[in-house]
Amino acid sequence: MILDQFKLDGKVAIVTGASRGLGKGLALALAEAGADIVGVGVSNSAATGKAVEALGRRYLEVTADLTDKACVADIVDKTKTAFGRIDILVNNAGIIRRNDFVDFSEQDWDDVMDVNLKTLFFLSQAVAREFIAQGEGGKIVHIASMLSYQGGIRVASYTSSKSGVKGLTMLMANELAQHGINVNAIAPGYMATDNTEALRSDEQRNTEILARIPAGRWGIAEDLAGAVVYLSSDAGSYVQGHTLAVDGGWLAR
Ligand code: NAP
Repeated sequence: MILDQFKLDGKVAIVTGASRGLGKGLALALAEAGADIVGVGVSNSAATGKAVEALGRRYLEVTADLTDKACVADIVDKTKTAFGRIDILVNNAGIIRRNDFVDFSEQDWDDVMDVNLKTLFFLSQAVAREFIAQGEGGKIVHIASMLSYQGGIRVASYTSSKSGVKGLTMLMANELAQHGINVNAIAPGYMATDNTEALRSDEQRNTEILARIPAGRWGIAEDLAGAVVYLSSDAGSYVQGHTLAVDGGWLAR
């Protein structure tokens, strides 16, 4: 039955940035589909853990600052110790810094590239090695952005990191498909989270953005639920290297 192919019962999913925003929604979607969740982040993710457990799944919080890739081994080790295996990795954690291109600082470049691209790369590498050792394939889903396709303004490191994520998604699929590992990305449109608080509270920018979204509203975390379960499940097993826009039609304009 087709709906059975979407089930994630017995699977173990690592979700970075699961404390709030889109990551919390992605973790809950995977848990609702049957997966146990490892939530990775700096701050407390107890609210996510409680919600996952209310769905009857197990939750492990791993405290890690993804600015430094040194945390990668710990994330993998703690997951294996607690749950014995890894089936799904969702690289969601991400940050943004805004400044004019001519004034953009090295700090704002490095911080964003480290979290959004460098640690994403090394965590994916560590998890892919586990998938290969386990011998049963696996699923990796990166969270990309509209700025994987567009340049944006005043977000030099963010647009560079997210364009990099889209390229890396294709490279990883090319190299890992032979191991039964699916690598894809989701490119959310304009979503109402802390990340976009500054844009939404700027009345002019908010009006301009809403006028350009065919769906006529900001997205919410729940809008990504179907996409992440699809790409993390057997239902998406022949989808490789794709970045799926979930954007209310933004890119179609
Ligand atoms: P958010 O509300 O700001 O949440 C960011 C999450 O990332 C938090 O859980 C945060 O953990 C975690 N994080 C940030 N820096 C970290 C670090 N150094 N180490 C560990 N965890 C870290 O952001 P969001 O809007 O949900 O965005 C999630 C992802 O979607 C990001 O990759 C973002 O670029 C992407 N995205 C968002 C939008 C949008 O419109 N919101 C659109 C396209 C793409 P703590 O709570 O511990 O700080």
